[in-house]
Amino acid sequence: MERTVTPRETAYDPYDFANRRHIGPSPEEIQAMLETVGAASLDALIDETVPSDIRQSRPLDLPSPLSERGALDRLRETANKNRVLTSLIGQGYHGTIMPPAIQRNILENPAWYTAYTPYQPEISQGRLEALLNFQTLVADLTALDIANASLLDEATAAAEAMALAHRVTKTKANAFFVDAQCLPQTIAVLKTRAEPLGWEIIVGDPFVDLEPDKVFGAIFQYPGVEGAFHDYSGVIAALHESKAFAVVAADPLALALLKPPGEMGADAAVGTMQRFGMPMGYGGPHAAYIAVKEAHKRALPGRLVGVSIDARGNRAYRLALQTREQHIRRQNATSNICTAQVLPAVIASMYAVFHGPRGLRAIAERVHRKAARLAEGLESLGFKISPGAFFDTITVDVGPYQGLVMKNAVDNGVNLRKVGADRIGITVDERTRPDTLEAVWRAFGGDQLAYSDDYPDSRLPRTLIRQSAYLTHPVFHMNRAESEMTRYMRRLADRDLALDRAMIPLGSCTMKLNATAEMLPITWPQFAEIHPFAPADQALGYAEMIEDLSEKLCEITGYDAFSMQPNSGAQGEYAGLLTIRAYHKARGEGHRDVCLIPASAHGTNPASATMCGYKVVVVGTDEIGGIDVDDFRAKAEENAANLAAAMITYPSTHGVFEETVRAVCDITHANGGQVYLDGANMNALVGLARPGEIGADVGHLNLHKTFCIPHGGGGPGMGPIGVRAHMIPFLPGHPETGGNAMTVSAAPYGSACVLAISWSYLLMMAGAGLTQATRVAILSANYIAARLSAAYDVLYTGSNGRVAHECIVDTRPLHASADVTVDDVAKRLIDCGFHPPTMSWPVPGTLMIEPTESETKEELDRFCDAMLAIREEALAIEQGRYHRTNNPLKNAPHTVEDLIGEWERPYSRECACFPAGAFRVDKYWPPVNRVDNVHGDRHLVCSCPPIESYVKAEPTKTKETARVSND
Ligand SMILES: *Cc1c(COP(=O)(O)O)cnc(C)c1O
Repeated sequence: MERTVTPRETAYDPYDFANRRHIGPSPEEIQAMLETVGAASLDALIDETVPSDIRQSRPLDLPSPLSERGALDRLRETANKNRVLTSLIGQGYHGTIMPPAIQRNILENPAWYTAYTPYQPEISQGRLEALLNFQTLVADLTALDIANASLLDEATAAAEAMALAHRVTKTKANAFFVDAQCLPQTIAVLKTRAEPLGWEIIVGDPFVDLEPDKVFGAIFQYPGVEGAFHDYSGVIAALHESKAFAVVAADPLALALLKPPGEMGADAAVGTMQRFGMPMGYGGPHAAYIAVKEAHKRALPGRLVGVSIDARGNRAYRLALQTREQHIRRQNATSNICTAQVLPAVIASMYAVFHGPRGLRAIAERVHRKAARLAEGLESLGFKISPGAFFDTITVDVGPYQGLVMKNAVDNGVNLRKVGADRIGITVDERTRPDTLEAVWRAFGGDQLAYSDDYPDSRLPRTLIRQSAYLTHPVFHMNRAESEMTRYMRRLADRDLALDRAMIPLGSCTMKLNATAEMLPITWPQFAEIHPFAPADQALGYAEMIEDLSEKLCEITGYDAFSMQPNSGAQGEYAGLLTIRAYHKARGEGHRDVCLIPASAHGTNPASATMCGYKVVVVGTDEIGGIDVDDFRAKAEENAANLAAAMITYPSTHGVFEETVRAVCDITHANGGQVYLDGANMNALVGLARPGEIGADVGHLNLHKTFCIPHGGGGPGMGPIGVRAHMIPFLPGHPETGGNAMTVSAAPYGSACVLAISWSYLLMMAGAGLTQATRVAILSANYIAARLSAAYDVLYTGSNGRVAHECIVDTRPLHASADVTVDDVAKRLIDCGFHPPTMSWPVPGTLMIEPTESETKEELDRFCDAMLAIREEALAIEQGRYHRTNNPLKNAPHTVEDLIGEWERPYSRECACFPAGAFRVDKYWPPVNRVDNVHGDRHLVCSCPPIESYVKAEPTKTKETARVSND
């Protein structure tokens, strides 16, 4: 094979095994692919594709690549710099025990962690069922009607509830009341979210300071950060009299014993499910929840799983009410939330399935007994404990000895929480052992005190004991033998199509390899069991990892600093725009509030801008899928006095490297604005171009796309933001670590634990490997475009006829000629054994295909063969050889059930089930036929339906196409 060796490539040996781990095509396959695309070499292809004026001036300057073992050694060394003490800090993060069967079969199982967001329900029934269990769990525990399928963390869930309150209440009031007992990070995020929207935050004691007619809503913490809790029924009734909205932030484990928010009349409840089996991970990832009364279901943010039927009338799950989401509603969406916490939510739901209601109650009771024993011991030492009634948290008056006791505790291996100047907070959990209690007593001077098994008196208030049942559905009453539990998890996993079976060619979502070596460190206790507010000297390993990762990302992007706080891409957009806002304000230009956004932008862009109080001005798109520069200039100039920012995506959402990107940045700057660059498409840039050099001032990276954190079925993710030097002073801060007053996530470094994945990736790939990955990603997209262009129009290309790392294939002509919709093509791909590409976005009726560098030529060919065969099937319809409505495309996907009984279709069974691409032996069988979305939204059911409710129903006649509103 001929290779032109450039300086960039010298350090990269494509035959090296370690390099082959990440990059799919072999050197020989790369050569063959180059021939198909008609490029002389990879260098030549890249020169034709990436405009020369944006190319970075020098190769990436990163240390030499580490081998798999070398990287794991480095990770181990770094992890060992963290000191794992027993955390009794509480404040929203608790010790918990993940059942080993869940750890191995879900968290460590690629069938679960490499799945994509369940937008294609037919290949997602397993995780949709697990999420429906999650929603049922939350709705039951909170005694509210409907819960969504997870939010990012408790603090942002509280902020979403505040925004929901503002949307649905009819009062004119402009303030939101926050219980002073709310977690400090929740208060910080609420203040950050309220300020740009002009809402006032009033913090106080709900029983003293709350004036219901002055607020549109209020939130109470249950139990509060210092351990106290109350029946809020009275204040909630008073709020309702003033048409205001009531939110309770509740600990779900406490709700196993205590009167739930729904029974107090609350309109919404929020909280974190972390203590249902997910380790603290220095802040995340964990699932947060939100639940609301029936009346507010259409205002609920985030994703919602619902029950519907398939084409045979069989029960099938799918995402419900998608028309509320930012993909469709853009600046009018209920929220900007996109990636959430699916994998942690699945784990929380399985924790509940494993334990069942009796198990959960027993855990909660044990936790309470430990707290009561702890309190008794401290009282016997003469300490004053508050509150009188508590669940798991107590606050101890220590007068002048706060420093001494805190230090004693650390010397005894325990972290406690400072409260004010003279008190100490202690929160016990599922992991607390007798010797933990003895260690705490020693820290308080009780060296003699010994643990006793005697039952202490309950400290729960009689009036707040829960009377109602929860988790009555059979799924929470299975036989809990591990053999059965393992098979349940396996059955659900087998229903889904994840990266461990086939490529997931999702434009804009970069479903690349999540290498196993990168995943190993996340379960090491030195990373997993650190509390986010542990003393800094116990988290030196995290500090080192975060600093080194930030430096490497700066080298890759050309930015000068990173903030790891945003725990999703959309959160990054929001944080970045707030940074821009703070920058303008500091320069006395706080009036700037216009944000230019191209029509083709991801829906989160306008949704995030709206949350910052910005006015969105939409800019048109030109013929090749880029920004219409004339329109952009005109709108920038028209709004020059108030221009705050432009949000651009590069390469464009249409998968093209626009040659005008520098001009767009210059125009923005010349008119007083700052450039936000959405970095979701960074997989086309790493090693070739740096956003910071192109002219961007701020931008996020989706570490769960380009930097190998797996999608987890729709989360977790990380969306850190990079900034140029002039923006550094305005980056987010956190009440626990200081800095700027603006806080966007509950934890200072977001979902810190999964940063180990991206860091491992960068250590193993290094500069040459990362650059080669980008080059191969571009080659693979151009290869697919070249192979498919014989049968389909590839919509947008750059001036040399090349696409970037993804391509848009037009299926609309098939609609005109053969009544074949983009859904038909997508669903037929399932028969072929593929996850369909991104559908109808950014252009309706098209498929956006992103193969990534990780797929072999063989897999790319299998996909192209399937797409070409589908075109042939459409041709057969055009020519009358296939029936117009009863054909393999319209009836796709086909299930095993289709094959039984009489076969009356005008095409063969073999054609139905074994089209091009489908494996003979390892055939993927979808568990349901095509899912009826309209039926599901009309008969909305969002928790586990009772077994006896099951009836075969008539499918809806009108077939819905993707992302079309029926609201
Ligand atoms: C994925 C994506 C986002 C949103 O990221 P989340 O992590 O899902 O919030 C934003 N913009 C673009 C272009 C994306 O592809």
